[in-house]
Amino acid sequence: MKTEYLKLSEESIDEEAIARAGRILQEGGLVAFPTETVYGLGGDALNPASSRKIYAAKGRPSDNPLIVHICRMKDLPPLVEEIPDAALKLAKVFWPGPLTMIFKKSDLVPLETTGGLSTVAVRFPSNRIAAALIDKAGGFVAAPSANRSGRPSTTNADHCREDLDGRVDMIIDGGPVQIGLESTIIDMTEETPMILRPGKISRKMLEEVLGTVEVDRTILSSDDAAAPRAPGMKYRHYAPRGYLTIVDGEREAVAAYINRECEGLRAKGMKTGVLCTDETFSSYHADSVKSTGSRQDEDAAGRALFRLLREFDTEDVQVMFSESFEGASDGQAIMNRLMKAAGHRMVRV
Ligand code: AMP
Ligand code: MG
Repeated sequence: MKTEYLKLSEESIDEEAIARAGRILQEGGLVAFPTETVYGLGGDALNPASSRKIYAAKGRPSDNPLIVHICRMKDLPPLVEEIPDAALKLAKVFWPGPLTMIFKKSDLVPLETTGGLSTVAVRFPSNRIAAALIDKAGGFVAAPSANRSGRPSTTNADHCREDLDGRVDMIIDGGPVQIGLESTIIDMTEETPMILRPGKISRKMLEEVLGTVEVDRTILSSDDAAAPRAPGMKYRHYAPRGYLTIVDGEREAVAAYINRECEGLRAKGMKTGVLCTDETFSSYHADSVKSTGSRQDEDAAGRALFRLLREFDTEDVQVMFSESFEGASDGQAIMNRLMKAAGHRMVRV
């Protein structure tokens, strides 16, 4: 299929153009679009054929459920069996925004959309292009991240083109995203709500509203025997094509270790890369050294992570090392993605 490209600005959305994108979704087509977290690959959430198309376009295993995106609070009740009070509290504070909540699903939601589960993940994004598209599509848009399965999520329209050109009907270019990491997922069907995927909305922020919140222990673990509760978290994810290792330790020791490794690899003709921060950028010697920004600026690191991993691919870097973001206050979301991208390879020096 030929993919149509549409450039839109959040500040002044072209009504006619977004209506056309909405019609594509209503007619069972696929549209990639910006959200505040990452780009989404949208289809009509209530149409089983659309969900099947999403899995095919991504190359995604069909037991990995999709998140249903809405643009009005009144569209939540029809999707779910019940809305716990705690969920209403969270919605009041964090919606629209980068928080996905899991509910018991109603019969309206096809099993194709939920990967066969009796629960449904719902998010109300704040990006205005996303909201306008969802509205024009009829209110319910299933949208996983707009990347080929296993690849880093897409944070601009060029990434979507790399992964999805010819596989979707339209890609909406709304510029680079603000957050760069996928939404926080919290399961509201549990007695005590449980975080299944860390994101911009941190445990602390959720606990400020709800009191206690649990965290799925598989989030940062490499223990494959422990089944994660968000089915998608069990798959190899976010991965660049090269071989990535995270190096944790004192700043000087990390730089010394990485430089020594890179020197050895380059002597063997390998192309090497380093993912670091502004503070340490000049200490590294590798073919490609990339900074996520200042170490203090975790927002910048979140925004840059997937883009930089993709750049290593474009440059055919074969072996990469990354500094660790452990201990950063918001570090859990970044480390969760980085650990998956590295296949949980971490060296402590
Ligand atoms: P993505 O669409 O790429 O952001 O991935 C969606 C994530 O949400 C995956 O990790 C899914 O496993 C998770 N997810 C979606 N629906 C559910 C659900 N009903 N229960 C648990 N996790 C879910
Ligand atoms: Mg994804």
